[in-house]
Amino acid sequence: MADCELLDKCGFFKKYGASHAPACQGLAAQYCRGPKKDQCKRKEYRKKHDAPPPDNMLPGGALLKE
Ligand code: SF4
Repeated sequence: MADCELLDKCGFFKKYGASHAPACQGLAAQYCRGPKKDQCKRKEYRKKHDAPPPDNMLPGGALLKE
């Protein structure tokens, strides 16, 4: 399965993709490198606002507390 086309410029993936936190790994596997990439809320946000979402916005749309 192809990776998300935004992988290289995605703040979430850059910041948390390499994280060892199991939750982030799971999300990256499901969304960024998996079958849910077309349901990603970050992608939707980028389209709607014509700008990238905050880095701490998760693919599911919730904001991660930092
Ligand atoms: S978080 Fe969404 S936009 Fe970012 S790389 Fe993953 S699937 Fe793509």
